[in-house]
Amino acid sequence: MSIVISSDFDSGNAELVEIAGNRIDVNIRKDIRSDFFQWFHFRAEGLSVGEEYTFRILNAGKSSYPEGWKIHNIPYSEDGKTWERLPSSFEDPILTFKLVPKIGAASFAYFGPYDLTRHKEMISRAQASPYFVSIEVGKSCESRNIELLSFGSGGGEKKNLWILARQHPGESMAEWFMEGLIERLCDPEDEAAKGILSWADLHLIPNINPDGTFHGNLRTNAKGANLNREWDKASEEYSPEVLFALKEMDRIGVDACLDIHGDEDIPYVFGSGAEGNPGFTERLQTIDDAFRQNWMKINQTFQVEHGYDKDEPGKGDLSLCTNQVSERFNCFSLTIEMPFTDDHNHPDPLNGWSPEKSKVLGASSIEALSSIKHLL
Ligand SMILES: [Zn+2]
Repeated sequence: MSIVISSDFDSGNAELVEIAGNRIDVNIRKDIRSDFFQWFHFRAEGLSVGEEYTFRILNAGKSSYPEGWKIHNIPYSEDGKTWERLPSSFEDPILTFKLVPKIGAASFAYFGPYDLTRHKEMISRAQASPYFVSIEVGKSCESRNIELLSFGSGGGEKKNLWILARQHPGESMAEWFMEGLIERLCDPEDEAAKGILSWADLHLIPNINPDGTFHGNLRTNAKGANLNREWDKASEEYSPEVLFALKEMDRIGVDACLDIHGDEDIPYVFGSGAEGNPGFTERLQTIDDAFRQNWMKINQTFQVEHGYDKDEPGKGDLSLCTNQVSERFNCFSLTIEMPFTDDHNHPDPLNGWSPEKSKVLGASSIEALSSIKHLL
């Protein structure tokens, strides 16, 4: 049997260049209508058990974040469910990793994938939650569904807490984060979930960029738009995904917002706030500080030492979700970044930063948000 390389599936991205003996060379394809690229996901079949294969990504060094490859071991899966990591070496521009397969097939990706099939299953399960209130459905450029799930319990005045994920579709850890959170909202025995929903409604958009996810993009939607630069100019033509979220936020209101991402270079979990906004206040700074300090105690992977440089006062970019939402609703808003490679405070050579750790972090956001109730 000859070796077959495929990527023509939901969230796939790789182009076969050559198979020469046991060496398999691929390139990563650019995002649609964009020069960004880094996400890859492909499958190899027809491998011989016990033989060593060398896989090379020839254009890795030309990708959007080439520095990231220096510390990136490669997620792979033989059963399509469990993802471990293979050591890799990067000699610009070529990324190389080797596999001795235990069965005749294996999948490789930039991070444990979260495809639209799994997404649909999660959306269905979420609606069986005892706290599920409503679903609104927006449409992407290519008419895929964008689900907004609202959870609550009882009546009365509630705070509106928003969490959205996957503006950047290659950051699949963001949707694993949402799955960890949603699983808790589906558990009637979960006291912390019950507690937060007694004073807040949770509004979740688990995947705001389904087109990018389907096409295996790193950063953009089907029109080539980077959604996290569209929040001050969202349009029906280029960024209906953001337009839908903003319309629903305007209708419902926002008291706090988390926007979930992954970072290619920085090997830690961190937050990035709205401190550069013209309308940023001491009150918002107090909430931001409390949220970060509390979350560190609840989940030790979250930390405040490493992260992006802070924006200077008044220099915040209002095209970013976190900044636009904070400015528009005078509310606490934070971008959450997880690593692609590993959490260097808690190194894990076998799994690196993983879907499972992303889920645990997402689950812990319930306690982190609960801890700032008195400040909202
Ligand atoms: Zn991102």
